[in-house]
Amino acid sequence: MRPLAIAQMCVVATVFAAAPAAAQAPDTILVNGKILTVDQQFSTREALAIRDGRIIALDTSANIRKLAGRQTRVIDVQGRTVIPGLIDSHLHAIRAAQTFATEVNWIGAASLTEALGRISEAARTMKPGAWLIVAGGWNVQQFKENRRPTQAELVAAAPGNPVYVQLGYGWAMLTPSALKLLNIYSDADVPAGGKLERDAAGQPTGAVSGGQGAIIALFDKLPKPTFEQQVDGTKKFFRELNRLGMTGVYDPGGNNLLPDDYQAIFKVWRQHEMTIRVAYTLCGNTPGGEFEEIKNLVALLPQGFGDDMLRFGGLGERITAAMNNNNRPTEAEKAKYYEIAKWAADRGMTLTMHWNTDASVGQLLDIFEHVNRDTPIGALRWSVAHLNDASEASLRRMKALGMGWTVQDAMYFGGDGYAQQAGADAARRVPPVETGKRIGVPIGGGTDAHRVASYNPFTSLQWFLDGKTVSGHAIRGPEETPDRMGALRFYTIGSAWLSFDETKRGSLEVGKYADLAVLSKDYMTIPVSDIHTIESVLTMVGGNIVYAARPYANLEAAH
Ligand SMILES: [Zn+2]
Repeated sequence: MRPLAIAQMCVVATVFAAAPAAAQAPDTILVNGKILTVDQQFSTREALAIRDGRIIALDTSANIRKLAGRQTRVIDVQGRTVIPGLIDSHLHAIRAAQTFATEVNWIGAASLTEALGRISEAARTMKPGAWLIVAGGWNVQQFKENRRPTQAELVAAAPGNPVYVQLGYGWAMLTPSALKLLNIYSDADVPAGGKLERDAAGQPTGAVSGGQGAIIALFDKLPKPTFEQQVDGTKKFFRELNRLGMTGVYDPGGNNLLPDDYQAIFKVWRQHEMTIRVAYTLCGNTPGGEFEEIKNLVALLPQGFGDDMLRFGGLGERITAAMNNNNRPTEAEKAKYYEIAKWAADRGMTLTMHWNTDASVGQLLDIFEHVNRDTPIGALRWSVAHLNDASEASLRRMKALGMGWTVQDAMYFGGDGYAQQAGADAARRVPPVETGKRIGVPIGGGTDAHRVASYNPFTSLQWFLDGKTVSGHAIRGPEETPDRMGALRFYTIGSAWLSFDETKRGSLEVGKYADLAVLSKDYMTIPVSDIHTIESVLTMVGGNIVYAARPYANLEAAH
């Protein structure tokens, strides 16, 4: 039979099979939109129809209206832009969610005055004497004052509360009552690797500075939210992400996150109240004992276990403590790592690994290539997170291993420092996403929030397009700058690939989930410098409205 005849038969068969279903009216239709489908051609449609959580048709408004039955909900989006729900491929969402209801958030504050105002506001709204904790997600350059808060300012903002403000993983300012509650009176009381910061006169400023380990241990001393607060925080954080057009996350575990900390999201999942689809991974937590720990934890947890709202997505982003942020691992440390990676490959597990610099990533890729010789990993979608200065050679090695690359807007906060240290030329190509794309490495967009970055996807999308740091310096060159379509692909179908979900979501096509966001402004045409101001006015996950604002707020209430 000629190929064409086979193709025709297939078409007939498909239509025939779809016919009984098509007789049923859609649950919801969206009309009068500028729907960016993010399909292969990046085609734009006017309207779509949804039934049982999935898209059943995309067409003109007139044709989609013809499908509607008496029960069909018709949503006129009045010319607004509709995108597939955004997916962050590297967001520490489970950790951020756990504390979202009890933390103070400095994300996006344009001045220190505004940030301190949020502390005062929290002092008024939280219960008297509550800890006020800013866990990160901000940096000095975002403030017009261009400096950190002083202890006196924090005390003035919330005289009756202990206050803790962390900056990245290197510094935290505590008020006197916070220091007292943590029993910190001298350097001896500070976790190993940290010390009390002193001013020119030798007086303690209230800040603790030190390495990542010290700040992580310091944070662990803070009181944890109650379980109810964690559940509440999880729901609120997911809603906050929905407000920003997000419908999915690939969660890479992280510091300060132990198995107990997953219980809040598990409860939300059991209650069927997830509004973000989460694929989660497990980190090794016990230095030296990671292999035993991981084996125990996943003994009854096969790769891919779960459902489309919550799914186990493998190991990472930290496998062993010894290989974490270690640019010169010993042979023994690499052998241990190989053992775990090989074990994961034998079980068909995905693995995502945090690695920062290209100069040393060969140490990691050598191990992955070794594993691949023994057990092919090409179908397992392993990935490297960060690697902002990835060389073409490393990207080619990743491509050969079938690996993906999760890219975050780390240079939005860190770009000025990077340019200073590595030079303007090197800064022009961080991160080299166009090179990665040309080589064919699957790329997911994201943020790495919420300790070291804002979770706002539109801040990240804008940064992909203008390469500007938070202080306004454009450091990336046009040769590594994607266009608007390309950046949106990273943040949708690109991220979906990391959790094997690209056939279910990440684009708006027939058969896929109706995970989408109706935007407040047109992502494709507004000035790039305004993209960070975009929000969703209507977000759906599987056809359910999970967030709605004016003029659609009533739809959410009705739902
Ligand atoms: Zn990381």
